Amino acid sequence: MYAEVILPLAVPGTFTYAIPEGLAVVTGMRVAVPFGRGRKLYGAIVRRLHNDDPLERKPRPILSVLDTAPIVLSEQLELWDRIATHYMCTVGEVMIAALPGQLSLSSETRLVAGPQVEQHIPGEERAVFLLNALEDGQVVTLEQAGELLGLKDPMPVVKRLMEQGALLLEEQLKQDWKPRMASYIRLAPETANEEALHGWFDRLEKAPKQLHVLMRYVELSQCLTDHPKEVERAKLVHASGSTTAVVEQLVKKGLFERYEREEGRPDPASALAPPPTLSAAQQRALDEVKAGFATHDVVLLRGVTSSGKTELYTTLIMEALARGEQVLYLLPEIALTTQIIARLRARFADDVAVFHSRMAQHERTALWMRCTSDAPPRVIVGARSAVFLPFTKLGLVVVDEEHDPSYKQHEPAPRYHARDMAIVLAGLHRTKVLLGSATPSMETLYNARTGKYGSVELLVRYGDVRMPVITRVDLRDSARRKLMRGHFSTTLVEHIQQALDKREQVIVFQNRRGYVPVWQCESCGWIPQCDQCDVSLTYHKFQHQLRCHYCGRHYPPPTHCGQCGSSRLRMLGFGTEKIEEELGELFTNARIARMDQDTTRGKNALDRILTAFGQGAVDILVGTQMVTKGLDFDHVSTVAILNADNLMRFPDFRAHERAFQLMAQVAGRSGRRKTAGTVIIQAQEVQHPILELVVHHDVDGMYQRELEHRRAHGYPPFMRLVQFTLKHRSEERVAHTAHELANALRPRFGDLVLGPEIPVVSRIRDKHLRRLMVKLARSTHHADKEFLRDTIDRVFSDPAHSAVQLVTDVDPV
Ligand code: ADP
Ligand code: ZN
Ligand code: ZN
Repeated sequence: MYAEVILPLAVPGTFTYAIPEGLAVVTGMRVAVPFGRGRKLYGAIVRRLHNDDPLERKPRPILSVLDTAPIVLSEQLELWDRIATHYMCTVGEVMIAALPGQLSLSSETRLVAGPQVEQHIPGEERAVFLLNALEDGQVVTLEQAGELLGLKDPMPVVKRLMEQGALLLEEQLKQDWKPRMASYIRLAPETANEEALHGWFDRLEKAPKQLHVLMRYVELSQCLTDHPKEVERAKLVHASGSTTAVVEQLVKKGLFERYEREEGRPDPASALAPPPTLSAAQQRALDEVKAGFATHDVVLLRGVTSSGKTELYTTLIMEALARGEQVLYLLPEIALTTQIIARLRARFADDVAVFHSRMAQHERTALWMRCTSDAPPRVIVGARSAVFLPFTKLGLVVVDEEHDPSYKQHEPAPRYHARDMAIVLAGLHRTKVLLGSATPSMETLYNARTGKYGSVELLVRYGDVRMPVITRVDLRDSARRKLMRGHFSTTLVEHIQQALDKREQVIVFQNRRGYVPVWQCESCGWIPQCDQCDVSLTYHKFQHQLRCHYCGRHYPPPTHCGQCGSSRLRMLGFGTEKIEEELGELFTNARIARMDQDTTRGKNALDRILTAFGQGAVDILVGTQMVTKGLDFDHVSTVAILNADNLMRFPDFRAHERAFQLMAQVAGRSGRRKTAGTVIIQAQEVQHPILELVVHHDVDGMYQRELEHRRAHGYPPFMRLVQFTLKHRSEERVAHTAHELANALRPRFGDLVLGPEIPVVSRIRDKHLRRLMVKLARSTHHADKEFLRDTIDRVFSDPAHSAVQLVTDVDPV
């Protein structure tokens, strides 16, 4: 009779519509409904069917049904509710975040011509008007499409045209991510036997360069063994010290064949990698994980860097698949983890589906639809948005690098933490979660120590490689003794040189991008600032620009001080770009690459850098925290942290935890294969207790030290935080509203309301900010949130405050 639906809008609550005679509506399907005044239409999700006559006005009817089967399953609807409640947002906002854009239609949806425009659509005579308009390059909203089609409800037609490829959503055009193709080399069929190969060895005797390539190929491909491997052309070129041209000559001669496919994706014809043989320590850890699952829904696997956590996950995944179940494998940032995906694909071939928000819309939609089909993908590897996929047989969730802050969504709402929501998701499916990390978060360690989670430790590296040896260099002392060359101490220079001499690779970590963070007037101390934000600008030498890292604006570098007019400006501090330049001067023969937001913006730029590094075409990789994450390269012997102080000096209660994690993680990139790695940490405050803990790989020490601090000051894991950021162009108004909100909260929360404060960066994009924090006791946070919600509604319904923007962040990281 009636359908309660969720609209893809930030309005609170759900809405009721009448189901006209003859429409087959099922929970989880999309229906077209009008909403608000005017003729706005939305594709809404049916949340519930019922017969309760609404008390107030008569509900409007559903116009059409867009699906023949549910596209959202009941567990998902439940998850959406939980997210909306926990993160204090609307379920409509969760719906927008959850559904791939293509599945979420509204009057405002903007349409453009698809690849199949010329197609005639039988039965849709008027479609030609719409298609013509699109073909002319016009962008048409769904509402305008309705006018062109002469339909009050154009959604079913638009949906059909979309499925036929005749039209696309405008935002689809903006998607830039495509799988990267690579060239591979194999023996031509008639040469792929020992006898034929011997013939070629003889024949190439007069062409030593080509012969050398062939020999390297045999070695790399192991083509004479039972487990031949695929060989990427670039890798062969590099390993043989040859050129692409020489390899191509051999293709022409008929020895080799070249083929192209998605990089890292196994050739379906090639044999799957055999399951790992676990070391004794790994086997013990695996048994403990399974025992943990018998009594706990969540188990923490704390395994030191390079202990082989991925191999444990793989084993558990194999077992889940054997039981006919699906596995969700979450990674903090897909772009940085092509290596792990390649490893999983080598094991599970096309059972592995990848899902993340940078994928093209139609691919995300296709994967979503496959998930609701009879043959859903079995292993889904994804970034945080993968928790939103429909799962029918979920049997295990793995959250790798669970401590990573990029699991938290910042903008827009829902500001959810994918690790925490993965645990909720698993609960809805009555299945288990494995959290893995070498440096678990305080919250997770606390849950593991207090018995809420199972806890397993794997404290030896695979192959019994020793943990890296970490040495501190005192920057003040080095400066006094004139032992600095730019930002490098002579100790560090020597270590890097030694590594290069041994043809080993080096990673240099500097947590700031750009060339120098600030220019400053030597006479009056003036620092150039962004017009729109209250932050100093960073100089980017390559573009010769000053840039705002908050709003992205750029400015020409000043020639004179903006305050006193002096022309004597100096540069302070240093960023990755500057370090790259210094490295070039210190190590003139080294090949250097930089990995930060600036160098990884373009299509596949990141992949190219990682591939080059993996293939040994780069000796030194310098970068921001991107270089700390999960990289597994054989030949990295040395890691440098240039300035540990600026990691530890953040005005945030998590600064020490984060600094520890970052340093321990980047250190863990070194010496992963045979000999222990070398890590050099440069710092002014070399005696800082956090450095002491990093040097000793002392996770427990970090935990103890931090826990006391958190307990004493009432921070997570002891209390939950809700942070409110208020924004408005007028500073007076935002300050006033923040005050009112704080006053309205104090009667209940008293001293647990912190602020309002002026944040360190007090203006962004020309809006002034104020910040309030409320601490909630763990036991009452549900009721507290209800109170918060009511208070916000009350305060912001006042016209004096309603124009002030409020951003609510629950469990901020
Ligand atoms: P972690 O995720 O703990 O940092 P990885 O799973 O990346 O560690 O393992 C580190 C390296 O050791 C990888 O290259 C991996 O292939 C190798 N390795 C770990 N365990 C095994 C095993 N049981 N058999 C073969 N190789 C292993
Ligand atoms: Zn000046
Ligand atoms: Zn700015």
